[in-house]
Amino acid sequence: MRTVQEQGHLFEEWLTPEQINSDVQLVADQINKDYEGKEPLFVVVLNGAFIFASDLLKKVKVHSEITFIRVSSYWGMASTGKLEFLVPLQQSVRGRDVVIVEDVVDTGLTIHQLKAHMRAEGATSVRVASMLFKPDKLEYNDAKPDYIGRSITNEFVIGYGLDLDGFMRNLDAIYKVKQ
Ligand code: 5GP
Repeated sequence: MRTVQEQGHLFEEWLTPEQINSDVQLVADQINKDYEGKEPLFVVVLNGAFIFASDLLKKVKVHSEITFIRVSSYWGMASTGKLEFLVPLQQSVRGRDVVIVEDVVDTGLTIHQLKAHMRAEGATSVRVASMLFKPDKLEYNDAKPDYIGRSITNEFVIGYGLDLDGFMRNLDAIYKVKQ
């Protein structure tokens, strides 16, 4: 089993590239089935989802568009609940079937707010595809992903797009802290 060290923590490989590939294929299969004959707009949440999105969307065969957003991780604290877009939506979601592509849904706050935003902007439907989901930490029920690569307990993971203070996103597998 492969291990990596970062900032004094030892991480061990939890999902291999082969396991990730088959999880991503299952997500793509469901999307291909559900969106057959439709023209979805995939909204990829930067930075963490970029590797998952790249692998997933190569396997998605429906006629579709892809766009990117980046939201501040602090906006959730604002009493207004207003999203702060570091990279705003580049195109209209009005009348579109939107699929938000996320790396991991934790408390669900990010997705909860993003879904509300997409609906307010006139999206016809909004679903979520997330590589990872931490069901035990979910605080916003509407943020449960429609498409899940793999559910995970409350551990912190890195790799495959997920970072530790900006580093380790380029690992080809998903690693957990070694207990
Ligand atoms: P939520 O809004 O669902 O609480 O948080 C989602 C965001 O928290 C993710 O997009 C990700 O940036 C970060 N996050 C949550 N859990 C983890 C984790 O285990 N590892 C890493 N690297 N980021 C995480």
